[in-house]
Amino acid sequence: MIARRALLKAALTGGVALPVAAGLLRTAHAEDEIPMLRENDVTAKSLAYVEDAAKVDKNAFPTYKKGQDCSNCSQYIGDKGEPKGACQLVLGQYVLAKGWCKAWEAKPAQP
Ligand code: SF4
Repeated sequence: MIARRALLKAALTGGVALPVAAGLLRTAHAEDEIPMLRENDVTAKSLAYVEDAAKVDKNAFPTYKKGQDCSNCSQYIGDKGEPKGACQLVLGQYVLAKGWCKAWEAKPAQP
């Protein structure tokens, strides 16, 4: 348990590789301890992240298409149907599955 906590702490502080960090975030037992990315956070502002893709400013982001959200973004690491998950661009915080940001890119089709 202590080793797991140490790994999670390292993941949250950037001390381990990104895929490992994302995996730890996704599988952590203490998921409630992992904060959510909020729209007012500096990282969120830099990504123009919104917590609800339905509220994307379509004038500011004309490439946005209805149906795009974090859950179908190539950067998202989360279980299908779960309301939140890790994003490879956001260390130490979860994003909402229904969120969106300007870095959205379609998740590759599964074989
Ligand atoms: S990169 Fe993708 S998963 Fe991450 S916040 Fe932006 S839309 Fe969501």
